[in-house]
Amino acid sequence: MSMTPQRFSPEWEAEFQASRRAALAEVNASTYGFVAGLVMVFSAWDWYVDPGDWLHALPIRILGAAIAIALGVLQKQTGRVDWAPAIAKARFAATTLAVAGALLVLDQGFEFGIAGVVSMVLVGPYLAMDRRDLLKLYAVPAVCIAFIMVFGTLNRFAIINSTIFLVLAVLVGMILARVFESANRRAFVLEQQLKTEARTDSLTGLVNRRAMEAAAAAELKRARRNGGITAVMILDIDHFKSINDRFGHDVGDQVIISVSTAIQAVIRETDTLARWGGEEFLALLPSTHLADALALADRIRRAVASAPMPAENAAAVTVSIGVASSAEVTEDLTNTRWTHMLRAADSALYRAKQAGRNRVCSALVETD
Ligand code: GH3
Ligand code: MG
Ligand code: MG
Repeated sequence: MSMTPQRFSPEWEAEFQASRRAALAEVNASTYGFVAGLVMVFSAWDWYVDPGDWLHALPIRILGAAIAIALGVLQKQTGRVDWAPAIAKARFAATTLAVAGALLVLDQGFEFGIAGVVSMVLVGPYLAMDRRDLLKLYAVPAVCIAFIMVFGTLNRFAIINSTIFLVLAVLVGMILARVFESANRRAFVLEQQLKTEARTDSLTGLVNRRAMEAAAAAELKRARRNGGITAVMILDIDHFKSINDRFGHDVGDQVIISVSTAIQAVIRETDTLARWGGEEFLALLPSTHLADALALADRIRRAVASAPMPAENAAAVTVSIGVASSAEVTEDLTNTRWTHMLRAADSALYRAKQAGRNRVCSALVETD
């Protein structure tokens, strides 16, 4: 297991940072009560260490706890994920400085209480975006505490003792942040791979049926808002069983890949092509009228018929295509509209097969 965090491409990096911000926003919004509570509970410790001064430390603790709560509420109420790193830093600074400030007003507070500040420093990696961000998180409290040590009234023992522990805590924090970041980046890569695999057909690299269903739902919703027309086509390889029978299943697979390549070369960038079933493809054509979809389908049909195929001696591989558009579907509900469009395209495909294959049909128009 490598401890060195992986580097990402700019797009992945941006997405990774966004996912980290979201995670941090979650931490900000869910832990502020606990943190504020801890800051307050240690008032009892103040009292035990220095009954004479603990009341002077109390307002400092209350201030730190109040800021922690206010920042947590701010995160929760606004839901501003982009503020999460800044909120985390502000809360870390407020609570760390409140604890350090409380210790400062107690007799021998730093001698007895430095463990509290050290613990907070060790929580840092959990509140930082990554190992670089941790240094920013530590910056303000580090400068303030250094100032307290240098210009405060602490005795030499307290200064040396506290400095040793704080420096060690910062070093451990940096190592922890590196390990966290490394693990987070590995998890992110796995998540991306899973997401891609879940929507991709492994043979052709096209989107699979599940991803197409999602794309279609989104497209129909969009089309409904804009009053647009969406077309769909189902493409089925002709006499594919006989290709399998004559040349074997592996060649059949190669033919499926060749056909998908030929279709992809014709459709537009805004169209989505999916492997819909074994040797069936489905194309979703946004903002396309039936006549244009039919013309496109015919270009695909001709392109496939003349495409190079893996099987020697094989007759040209052809496809039959059924086309439908949302304009021909009377059903109004978005989800059933898709079902109706598929049904229309499927029956058009059936008619293309009946009419002799290697042709394009729609519910209304037929070409060859
Ligand atoms: P038609 O012209 O009527 O479409 O005839 P067809 O032989 O193509 O009939 P059909 O569409 O029903 O055939 C589908 C065949 O495709 C059945 C199955 O054995 C084969 N098939 C399905 N998936 C795959 C696959 O992933 N690889 C291979 N090699 N064959 C597959
Ligand atoms: Mg079929
Ligand atoms: Mg077929």
